Amino acid sequence: MKKLVKTLSQYMPRYYIWTIGCQMNKAESQQIADYLEMFGYQSTQTLQYADLIVLNTCVVRQAAEDKVLGTLGYLKGIKRNSPSLAIVVTGCFVDSNIERLKSNFPYVDLFFKPGDYSQLLSWAEKHGVLLPDAKPAPPLATRTSVTAFIPIIQGCNNFCSYCIVPYRRGREKSRPITEIVCEVDRLVARGTKEVTLLGQNVNSYGHDLSQRTDLSELLAQLSGIGELVRIRFLTSHPKDVDLKFIKTIASLDKVCKHFSLPLQSGDNDILKLMGRGYTIEQYLQLIHTIRSYIPGVSLSTDVIVGFPGERDEQFDHTLSILEEVKFDTVHVAAFSPRPGTIAAREYQDNIPPRVKKERLNKVEALQARIAGEISSRFIGKTVEVLVEGKKGGKWYGRTRGDKLTFFHSETNCFGKLVSVAITKVSPWALQGEMTGVK
Ligand code: SF4
Repeated sequence: MKKLVKTLSQYMPRYYIWTIGCQMNKAESQQIADYLEMFGYQSTQTLQYADLIVLNTCVVRQAAEDKVLGTLGYLKGIKRNSPSLAIVVTGCFVDSNIERLKSNFPYVDLFFKPGDYSQLLSWAEKHGVLLPDAKPAPPLATRTSVTAFIPIIQGCNNFCSYCIVPYRRGREKSRPITEIVCEVDRLVARGTKEVTLLGQNVNSYGHDLSQRTDLSELLAQLSGIGELVRIRFLTSHPKDVDLKFIKTIASLDKVCKHFSLPLQSGDNDILKLMGRGYTIEQYLQLIHTIRSYIPGVSLSTDVIVGFPGERDEQFDHTLSILEEVKFDTVHVAAFSPRPGTIAAREYQDNIPPRVKKERLNKVEALQARIAGEISSRFIGKTVEVLVEGKKGGKWYGRTRGDKLTFFHSETNCFGKLVSVAITKVSPWALQGEMTGVK
C-alpha cells in the first residue's frame, strides 16, 4: 500500500511521533508535528506506515529510560527491513554527548536536544518538501484543540539532587511575553478555550528576560484575551510561590484555582538531601496561606519514596503530611538514581526495591482514600466542565479544579462549557447529568 501511494506524484511523507514523559514533552511533540507539517510531512497514527519516526523521550526515571531503550531496539529491527525509514530522537535522552549517542545508535538519523528545533529544521529542509508559503518561524501551534499546552520557560536552575532535568534541558530560558500572548491569541482564534502554561519551574518565568516580567504579569495579559475561558499553570516550585502570586491567582477569574506544588518528601532531613530549598514548616505555611486567600483551591503534588537513606519513620512523615494536607492528586514515584546527578554521585541507593514498592503502594492506598473522600463531597453539587471529547459513549472534560468529569448527552457538547450535576463519584473521576450549557 505504502509503495503504491509512493508512486503517486502527490505523495507526502508521513511521520509518527512516539512521546513519553511530562506535559512539556507532549507540548513539544505538538510543536514538532507543526514543523514537520510545514515541511510537507503528514501525520499517521500507524507506526508501520511512517517514513519518519520521532521519539520524544524521557529519562527522569530508570523505568522511562528502559522504555526508550526498548523502543530504540524495536526500531532498529524495523529499519533493518526498511532502510529508507528515518528515525529522529529528541527529549531528555539526548545529552550533550551527541557523538557518543550516534556511535551507540548508528541507525538513528538525527539526535537533537529538547527544544533545539534548528537541528530538526535543517534536517527537514534536506529531507522534506517545504510548502510554498511556509517559513521556519517560532513555534506557533497550528492545530485546533479545546485545550492547549504552552511551554513558557525551558530548563531549570535548581539542581535538586535527584533530578536530571537541569543537565538535559539546561538553565532556565523564558520565551518573550509577546510571543506567548501572540501564540495564545492565535490558538483562541482557532477555537482553543483553555491553555496550560508549562515550565519545569513555571514561577521562575521572566527573570532571565532583558525586559523583566513574571508569571503574574503574563497571566494578567492572557486574561485579557476575550474568548479564552480558562488558564492553568504548572509546575510551581514551593520556594518560588510568594504572596503577590497567590493574590494574583485569587484575583484573576480566568485562572483556575489549582496549584501543582511538588512536596517530594515530608521529612526535613530528606528534603535537605534532596536540595529542595524549603522545610516542611515552610511548605505547610505556604499551603495555609494559599487556602486562606483561595478557599476551595485544588492542590496536586509529587512525592518520591525510597530516597537514599530514607528510614521508616522518615517515610511516615511523608504519609502524615499527605494526611494533613489532603491533596486532590498525588503523583508518586520510587527513587531511581539518574547518572550525573548529585544523588547518584554522592548517595547510596540503599533502599531495597521491595521496600520502595511497599512505600509506593502505601502512598497510593492513602491517596485513593483521601481522593475518594474529596470526590464524595461533590455528590449533589453542580460543576462547570469544559468538554474535551467523548469516550465510551460519554462526554468528558475537567472542572476548574481539574476533576475529570463524565456525563451523557445526545447533543454535540465538544468545546462547550456545560453544567453537570454530580450523581456518582470515584477517587479519580466524577459522573453526572448535564443541566445546562453556558
Ligand atoms: S525544580 Fe528540581 S525537580 Fe524540578 S526540574 Fe528543577 S531540578 Fe528537577
